[in-house]
Amino acid sequence: MKSKTRPIVGIDLGTTNSAIAWIQEGKPAIVSSPKRERIIPSVVHIDTRGQVLVGQDAVGSKIAMPSRTISAIKRHMGSEEPLSIADQMLLPEEISSLILKELKGFVATTFPDETAIEAVITVPAYFTDAQRRATKRAGELAGFVVERIINEPTAAALAFGLGKPDQTGHILVYDLGGGTFDVSVVEMYSGILEVKASAGNNLLGGEDFDWLLLDYMAEHVVAEYGVDPRLDLRAKTLLKEKAEETKKLLSMSERVDVSIPLLCFKDKDPIGLAIEITRVQFEAMIDDLLRETTELVTRALADAHLLPTDINEVLLVGGSTRIPKVRELIRDIFEMEPRTDVDPDETVALGAAVQAGIKSGELTAESLISTDVAPFSMGISVLHQIGASMRSDWFSVIIPRNTTIPVTRTEQYHTSSDGQRAVSIEIYQGESEQAKENYSLGEFMLEGIPANLAGEEAIDVTFSYNINGILEVAAKCVSNGKEMHISVHDQLQRDSEEEFSQSLERIHQALANSRLFDDEFDFDDEEMDITVEADDEFLSANRSLASLIDEAKLAVAKGQRLVSALDELAAKNLLQQVDQVLQLLENPEVTSLRNALDDLVDMLIDYDMEGED
Ligand code: AMP
Repeated sequence: MKSKTRPIVGIDLGTTNSAIAWIQEGKPAIVSSPKRERIIPSVVHIDTRGQVLVGQDAVGSKIAMPSRTISAIKRHMGSEEPLSIADQMLLPEEISSLILKELKGFVATTFPDETAIEAVITVPAYFTDAQRRATKRAGELAGFVVERIINEPTAAALAFGLGKPDQTGHILVYDLGGGTFDVSVVEMYSGILEVKASAGNNLLGGEDFDWLLLDYMAEHVVAEYGVDPRLDLRAKTLLKEKAEETKKLLSMSERVDVSIPLLCFKDKDPIGLAIEITRVQFEAMIDDLLRETTELVTRALADAHLLPTDINEVLLVGGSTRIPKVRELIRDIFEMEPRTDVDPDETVALGAAVQAGIKSGELTAESLISTDVAPFSMGISVLHQIGASMRSDWFSVIIPRNTTIPVTRTEQYHTSSDGQRAVSIEIYQGESEQAKENYSLGEFMLEGIPANLAGEEAIDVTFSYNINGILEVAAKCVSNGKEMHISVHDQLQRDSEEEFSQSLERIHQALANSRLFDDEFDFDDEEMDITVEADDEFLSANRSLASLIDEAKLAVAKGQRLVSALDELAAKNLLQQVDQVLQLLENPEVTSLRNALDDLVDMLIDYDMEGED
């Protein structure tokens, strides 16, 4: 069916999972993948043909080929450090764009004639300017017109507020996802949602809980066998999967038996893991991190000048809020049950779709309006007099954190030396009194100030922060009207035309270069390490035919290489199995190929060890 309205979608680009939604028949609705998944893991894999797999298929390839797979890329957004995937270096936003492109595929069939689909993409309220811009760029690289970047808790409140235009009161949104934590206090009145305050930590989430569990398991192996499985990439990947699985099980059970039959080797002897972990032990591991979230809740309440008793509803968003201890802490603070009728995995995408619907006019009847706040203070570096001494690099705040946006504020400053003809405007974002300890947003010079005595010339500095979290700065000499301005956003736009095509080219090249083979069997030794013992059920459920074929070809190549090092009987057995896989490769079918490949991989593990003797 072809939609009559302009295509505009809402996207939750999460650390662990991502989802896409739009307005259907006046309501936000998740758009499922062709395999009917409502959310997909934010995992990217580049296979040996240079094809991109995103979601469950990528998860399935993670253990077999960890160096070709990246998860939790959101934690790197805004960094200019490229990351290695399939031996190619890509920027975090370039890798994220592959996830967004996959999501775009879910809606593309509905809008086959449209070249550009507009998108509202969510980010944690506590994302910095650079992280927001990287997200916008990821969207553009995926081929979206990024209409708006909105804060995740705002989106959650929008999803909650839809259909309740008469409700008044304060909502607290506690959003603990895979990689980030955000808390926002939102006031609702007459269909208006006003964010009063936000606080958060961009590097605190379920991933951290997984790493703590992983360390606990690894230390157990170190104590028992004197081998650290974290030093082996494949064993580490296995442990990470197991840690997350254990964490989720501990949300349902008081104790969990953790078992990995083959984790790694010590002097060619297989080492496994079999321990019990209790919920109490897990809660003790994550206690400090959960305490940090409650401290941030307290800070957001204080910034909004509210007490816990002023909060009418608490919305829990993000998969990690399923941890029973989180709910217990919330109950203790607010003395009420948090809302459980909102789906923590889907709310943010649905809220982004509400914002998209408001933009496209599909939701006018609901007359919902949302306002947001600036998550960080913004200002400039100045000379500051403290007592008799002058201090340089003082951070003079022009827009304090948690100011409602959009906002424009002007502050007046004065020249600091006789005959001064120019001032340097250095712009920062953050909360430290020392400007350089904050995040630098850019700088420019205002020249042409009339020569005068120190303090005689006034300079007006104006900051305008728009709804997308993008800042414009202007500096004006009051006496002669000479003015200079910079838009952090525009500056990026200018660079980005060139950088944009470079990025597209880099992605294209990375995919081309990452091909291990086309039609012939070619291999590289690192990828030979496909000792696919792992969690068989998990792997087999998720392997796509294409990646299965790749793995089979690699296994065949390795088998053929190994034959000459084996005794006659072993060589015969191995060759038989290789032949069987080769035959199946001629007309591949998932189940039979998978079974034959699994047998071949078992043989490779056994014979490989013998061959090395
Ligand atoms: P999100 O970023 O909102 O998709 O949240 C994903 C995070 O939630 C991941 O770290 C998951 O491991 C975690 N998660 C999902 N389900 C559960 C659960 N039942 N118990 C604990 N954590 C969970």
